[in-house]
Amino acid sequence: MRVDVLTLFPEMFEGVFGTSILGKAREKGIVSLEAVNFRAYATNKHNTVDDTPYGGGGGMVLKPDPIFAAVEDLLARKQADEQENSGAQGGRQPRIILMCPQGDTFTQQKAEELSREEHLIFVCGHYEGYDERIREHLVTDELSIGDYVLTGGELPAMTVIDSVVRLLPGVLGNESSAITDSFSTGLLEYPHYTRPPEFRGWKVPDILLSGHHANIEQWRRQESLRRTWERRPELLEQAELTAKEREWLRKLEQENT
Ligand code: SAM
Repeated sequence: MRVDVLTLFPEMFEGVFGTSILGKAREKGIVSLEAVNFRAYATNKHNTVDDTPYGGGGGMVLKPDPIFAAVEDLLARKQADEQENSGAQGGRQPRIILMCPQGDTFTQQKAEELSREEHLIFVCGHYEGYDERIREHLVTDELSIGDYVLTGGELPAMTVIDSVVRLLPGVLGNESSAITDSFSTGLLEYPHYTRPPEFRGWKVPDILLSGHHANIEQWRRQESLRRTWERRPELLEQAELTAKEREWLRKLEQENT
């Protein structure tokens, strides 16, 4: 996968792209991660990328021309790379993702969808907002990481990139750890324990020490259901559950009301 980020602060990405799981994925060549300063595409004398809003009011608005030029340059370079490497043209179109609090809320399902793409381009805003023509004529997606407002799109883009890259094959040491993660199954994940078996009088559930894999799996599934029911009951409406599991949940509800 190739990931490009258009930002006014590429230095913010150095730590995140070079550290831990993302850093290793990059070293292994599973993903290429680049942050590009779109100020380099400004055409005016002072390299300005923002201007005052038409109609008045406070705040500065990101101009369309540097961001269009930066995206178009990335697309042209991608095409040239493809031609050089295989002579082929017309691979899958990149997803061009505008980070913005008004976009679709980012979810694990969206992370899974994006992890199947070949090329993602993120556009990080700053200041009051973007010229609307970027939204209307350049991007393919608008993503928000939640109903709150940050100063810029850099932290939201990092959040999305981290959760997408960890899903790529070969990135996590133990592939199954992403499969059982919260939301991947439609439920919250079951509780974990490790050594010691007893800590300050608090014991690890006996079943986890039993070595009986089928019983452990069943316990984990039930704890996952219990936790989801307690904390995020709305997720159960969409989850794929067996008739037996629905019955177990009904009993749990009766016992607790
Ligand atoms: N005036 C804008 C509004 O009310 O929608 C908010 C602009 S915000 C101060 C500046 C930039 O931060 C946005 O353009 C976006 O790139 C980023 N941003 C802020 N909050 C975000 C969120 N919840 N999700 C994604 N991006 C966000």
